[in-house]
Amino acid sequence: MFPRTDFLGLPLHKVSLWPLVSWLDGEIQAGRRRVLLGLYAACVPVALQNERYRADLEAADLVYADGMGVVWGSGLLGDRVPEKMATTDMLPPIAALAAAKGYRVYLLGGAPGVADRAAERLQQTHRGLIIAGTHHGYFDVEQPAPVLAEVRDARPDILFVGLGVPLQERFVTRWRDDLGATAILTCGGLFDFASGRTPRCPAWMTAAGLEWVYRLGLEPKRLWRRYLIDNGRYLLQLGRGMGRQRRWGH
Ligand code: UDP
Repeated sequence: MFPRTDFLGLPLHKVSLWPLVSWLDGEIQAGRRRVLLGLYAACVPVALQNERYRADLEAADLVYADGMGVVWGSGLLGDRVPEKMATTDMLPPIAALAAAKGYRVYLLGGAPGVADRAAERLQQTHRGLIIAGTHHGYFDVEQPAPVLAEVRDARPDILFVGLGVPLQERFVTRWRDDLGATAILTCGGLFDFASGRTPRCPAWMTAAGLEWVYRLGLEPKRLWRRYLIDNGRYLLQLGRGMGRQRRWGH
């Protein structure tokens, strides 16, 4: 397993992309069920306010840095995680692995039709990739039995769930064993990107920690709160965490 660090009271693993993909392969081979969650800056204030979400992060097998803000923040707190990995970065190597090994992939989430389109595009790039199934993310999460049954019956090895934070974390933690998949990854808006519906941020902007500026420009109405309010609160919480460390001499 990967070393775990305490990030402002939240779990965070020190992991990079290729070791993660090869670990995941081993876990699928061994049939060990694993839940992987990502953490970006705006998740931190949500987690510090929402005990349920915090417990879901705690219960996950692996929590990785899904934003440059978290990578930098972990460095400022003295225990830097190696890199930012979003599921948009993981998808190509995981799809290649799945195509090579015959692992069945299921995509759950997004607006109707989006996961289907993402699946088609994935199959065009990764010949032989088995898509076990797809389902949109606008079902009744209080009555999920039909969706759980659909996913389970499709016998996926790898399941991506994109319902947004913290709904997706609650869903995969609550229904971990009922979903039937071995590797379960939450993935936010991954299908919007993978389907081509939302353009991807240029790599240089992501590396500079400016992905939020790009995404805010694309969807200001939906994202202003996350990026302007929650990122601001994250910076305050990070500042407080650094102050605490100085006081205790760490
Ligand atoms: N979504 C969904 N069901 C819902 C609410 C949201 O499937 O009830 C989807 C939405 O269509 C989008 C994703 O969840 O594809 C959330 O994406 P967002 O960009 O917020 O996630 P991020 O990747 O930034 O965490």
